[in-house]
Amino acid sequence: MLSKVIAQANIDHAEKWFERADKIVIVTHVSPDGDAIGSSLGLCHFLESQEKTVNVIVPNAFPDFLRWMPGAKDIIRYDKYAEFAGKLLNEADVICCLDFNALSRIDAMADAVAQSPARKMMIDHHLHPESFCRIIISHPEISSTSELVFRLICRLGYFEDITKEGAECIYTGMMTDTGGFTYNSNNREIYFIISELLSKGIDKDEIYRKVYNTYSEGRLRLMGYVLYDKMQVFPQFNSALIWLTKEEQRKFQYIKGDTEGFVNIPLSIKNIIFSVFLREDTEKNMIKISLRSVGTFPCNKVAAEFFNGGGHLNASGGEFYGTMEEAIELFKQALVKYEELLLAKK
Ligand code: 5GP
Ligand code: MN
Repeated sequence: MLSKVIAQANIDHAEKWFERADKIVIVTHVSPDGDAIGSSLGLCHFLESQEKTVNVIVPNAFPDFLRWMPGAKDIIRYDKYAEFAGKLLNEADVICCLDFNALSRIDAMADAVAQSPARKMMIDHHLHPESFCRIIISHPEISSTSELVFRLICRLGYFEDITKEGAECIYTGMMTDTGGFTYNSNNREIYFIISELLSKGIDKDEIYRKVYNTYSEGRLRLMGYVLYDKMQVFPQFNSALIWLTKEEQRKFQYIKGDTEGFVNIPLSIKNIIFSVFLREDTEKNMIKISLRSVGTFPCNKVAAEFFNGGGHLNASGGEFYGTMEEAIELFKQALVKYEELLLAKK
């Protein structure tokens, strides 16, 4: 049995909204990851089973390794079809905001969502939700938004209506936001949920292969290059840094998603508890920062303080407008400032 994570008042409120709604739009954050797409499609499949008209809109492209997901081909990109997407947002009865806590996380879509007369509901697991939604289902203690979607559907009393396709999407989000159940994954209820998803006929081993073992040759060679040439270890701070320029990404035929997971690799070095990846964005003129930590080191604080970002304790991100040299310098300043926490004995 699952404990009742989501407050009953939120369940009742969501039930009313879904009952009355005909057109529902689901939106998720910029550069959507497995949990963003998984939770969105998981909820989409469920609402479709309730005869709703549902559209999933994302701000921009998502990685190739998520394209196999049932329903992924119908996802609408706001950066390509702003007018059509804007119309859907404006005409929606309900907009579900999944896997993000602030309008700034949906980039150019923010105005269209903010200005739509639709009722808005947030389902998310990031700290400090902003108040742009009437219903806020926000649970940072839960490791994925996809898990929250599963919990919501069950609490509404519709476990039976979860299809194999919906279960595949939910599983994918739970798997990717926990690094294949290697972090934030000690809650035993996760495994109860997986068991329930397996009862829908999903093949979890195949999902793992589709997500993690379908990369391009270029990605592997890029990874080799990064680890050999572009990783700096700071043993005196228990930290590591990797960085990549646009030029280097071009050389390895970079496509979106190719550097996914790179930031985690330095954490496999003994004693390294903090890893940062600086990547010159190929779309926008900025450096995208990914931060990861092990244990109690708060990389979201570093992200907020130094890189205009935020996120979870152990996985966060940010943006930097300036040169790579300046970003590296900032990273080094962060190490000095956080030295005590970086060296704290567990
Ligand atoms: P990733 O490194 O995979 O891009 O991001 C890891 C996590 O950091 C995301 O799940 C999200 O919570 C957070 N994050 C990433 N980029 C940003 C950003 O630019 N701003 C904020 N506030 N959070 C971010
Ligand atoms: Mn997530």
